[in-house]
Amino acid sequence: MSVPEQVLDDIRAAVGPKGWTADPDAVAPHLAERRGLWRGECAMVVNPATTDEVARVVGICNQAGVAVVPQGGNTGLVGGGVPQGGVVLSMKRLNRVRDVDPVNFTLTAEAGCVLADVQRAADAAERLFPLSLGAEGSCQIGGNLSTNAGGVQVLRYGNARELVLGLEVVLPDGRVWDGLRGLRKDNTGYHLKHLFIGAEGTLGVITAAVLKLFPRPTWRETAMAALPSAEAALKLFERAQNEAADGLTAFEFLSRRCMEIATAHVPGVADPFKSPHPYYALMELSGFGGADGRRQLRRTAEAILAAALDQGAVEDAVIAESAAQAKALWRIREAVPEGQPALGASIKHDVAVPVSMVPEFLARASAAVESAITGVRVVAFGHLGDGNLHFNLSQPAGADEKAFMAERERINRLVHDIVAGMNGSFSAEHGIGLLKRDELTRYKPAAEVALMRTLKNALDPKNIMNPGKVL
Ligand code: FAD
Ligand code: ZN
Repeated sequence: MSVPEQVLDDIRAAVGPKGWTADPDAVAPHLAERRGLWRGECAMVVNPATTDEVARVVGICNQAGVAVVPQGGNTGLVGGGVPQGGVVLSMKRLNRVRDVDPVNFTLTAEAGCVLADVQRAADAAERLFPLSLGAEGSCQIGGNLSTNAGGVQVLRYGNARELVLGLEVVLPDGRVWDGLRGLRKDNTGYHLKHLFIGAEGTLGVITAAVLKLFPRPTWRETAMAALPSAEAALKLFERAQNEAADGLTAFEFLSRRCMEIATAHVPGVADPFKSPHPYYALMELSGFGGADGRRQLRRTAEAILAAALDQGAVEDAVIAESAAQAKALWRIREAVPEGQPALGASIKHDVAVPVSMVPEFLARASAAVESAITGVRVVAFGHLGDGNLHFNLSQPAGADEKAFMAERERINRLVHDIVAGMNGSFSAEHGIGLLKRDELTRYKPAAEVALMRTLKNALDPKNIMNPGKVL
């Protein structure tokens, strides 16, 4: 549906000449997402610089019934930011850190702040903002909150949702809700912030947030363990969790095939072990204090690995001796999704099951897909400590890409049915967007979907906020 010229004029007047573009070259990157699964369209990209400008634009669009599609760094993986008409609201100019309060352990950031910049601002105040994920150099805090992003430290610090104390939101009718409270206790009615976190822009525009900061660890121990089985990974995780408690800040998991992909297809990535092993775990412990704290943390890491070796849960292990070595170990994990395209087309799943059921899920889902498509290559890795696996499938070597992708529905059904049978989630951290709308209605209880629709209708009766996404 085209947007009336008068509406575009009103928007231009509201944001000024720097606040919009309709230049096809500038608009083009906003119409697609990185996997190229969709091609969108929009009348213009609006770049507001203040909350007030966002409010004016949304108000104008609400009056005219024009769709508003918020976009952060556009790194989302489910098509949530792909516009299907209306205007794109790019948040990149709304990017000030408004306040850092080291005593309250809070930081107030505007939605367009790049995640890595928020981490740096916290670090400059000798605090930690723990949200950390592969796209942190370009994704924005508003996008992170709108997708309730996870990442590699959820196990210790929680999802994005758990890192927010207060929000500022432009509502679908253009009013501003100022909920920027930095309180740890506030039992004054409904916790409205949780409606907007994870809503993928369908209920309003997040313009700023009060984020929780944490003490900044002084020491880190990063280790990679080579494992005989997925069950062994679970044993190692249980031991590490018990012995390091809150000191265990990441526990990532990858299969042998992932190690091969990373080392063969991403330059500069090396296998730290002499011989191949079925699985690997990447473990990070964080500690505090002076030299004693450092020694203690090392002893804990060594004790966990030594006991797991004795138990047969670990076949071999390396502990990084320097920051560079730690980085090299993390690089292996990060390189898996980067290298996977070298194997051709892929069908991806971002699933969660109870941590204790991860090995069973892996065994059952692998058997199901391998019998459905001869030669399919399971590429399983992810955040074992959260029960969240990226259960990706690469096409059989030499097979036709299109024919493989045509199997997506059938394969999704196999995998997601197994997940549902384990009371798991078909979308653990990437959200729904356009990609998983059908899965939402298929797997969520009807009463839950109805409640979601009720909320959407109540907040956005004209359905202008990111229409067609999620629901
Ligand atoms: P966008 O992609 O721009 O938007 C995402 C959704 O939020 C869209 O629906 C959009 O409309 C909405 N939105 C954006 N900003 C706002 C706002 N201010 N107000 C309202 N709605 C808004 N995710 C994880 O959870 N864990 C990971 O470990 C992880 N790793 C990743 C690694 C890579 C290499 C990549 C490319 C992505 C990864 N992701 C991961 C996906 C993740 O969801 C995004 O990277 C990030 O959280 C989205 O932020 P963004 O600013 O790019 O949002
Ligand atoms: Zn992930």
